[in-house]
Amino acid sequence: PAADVPALEIRGVGVRFGGLTALDNFSGEVRAGSVHGIIGPNGAGKSTLLNVISGFYRPSEGAIRLFGEPLDPNGGHARAGLARTFQNTELFGDLSALDNVRAGFHDGSRANLIDALLRSPRQIREDRSDLDRARRLLAYVGLSDFADVRASHLPFGHQRRLEIARALALGPRVLLLDEPAAGLTHAEILGLGRLIRDLAARGVTVLLVEHHVDLIFAVCEQVTVLDYGKLVMSGAGEEAQRDPRVRAAYLGA
Ligand code: ADP
Ligand code: MG
Repeated sequence: PAADVPALEIRGVGVRFGGLTALDNFSGEVRAGSVHGIIGPNGAGKSTLLNVISGFYRPSEGAIRLFGEPLDPNGGHARAGLARTFQNTELFGDLSALDNVRAGFHDGSRANLIDALLRSPRQIREDRSDLDRARRLLAYVGLSDFADVRASHLPFGHQRRLEIARALALGPRVLLLDEPAAGLTHAEILGLGRLIRDLAARGVTVLLVEHHVDLIFAVCEQVTVLDYGKLVMSGAGEEAQRDPRVRAAYLGA
């Protein structure tokens, strides 16, 4: 049945840069509606995995399906329902927070999915433009009071949230987050965890690359561990938490 079709099916994907294999024959699945964590040391290939799923890199081999449909390695990933944030925030520093979200809307945007995600039928009738939608998205991530502030003037934690709002402007079915907790305070990380859980409750599948393992184990049903571009293990959060390799690398045990 359709409900069992994974959000992502990655089969034998490799990414090479010259002689370097950044991702080596990687296969895995991400369940629809889940929050799925990716952990591993620096250089393990985590960002490469997000880059190849989101179409920023072309796979050297292998194939990726999104809800059962093959992704075209030549593009159209946003239109297909993928959105992502970057390990180093990539905002338009000179634009206001509101305009950064508006810049997220484009031809590939899936307005119907944004509507389904965030707005009641009455709000859909009231909202007349992308401007209204952008305001609604800013409010959702808690940045209503900062709509007119330049992105570069926002505190770092707010910039991270703004980047998520801009990604949501695409109306994604799957949201890829690359170290969204990096540089955040403990309180901000807790807020980020609530935001991620809320997105999943609204039906957005989240793939979360993160070094903060507390956040990973707090919000992820499934966890995949990468090292040297290879799959180390993938399983339920509790299983990963018990894994000796994970304990040795992350939990000081
Ligand atoms: P992680 O996000 O787990 O820290 P990355 O996916 O960024 O790791 O990198 C995996 C490996 O691939 C590293 O050795 C990195 O230097 C290399 N790499 C990543 N992107 C590129 C690129 N665009 N060109 C060359 N090498 C790259
Ligand atoms: Mg990375």
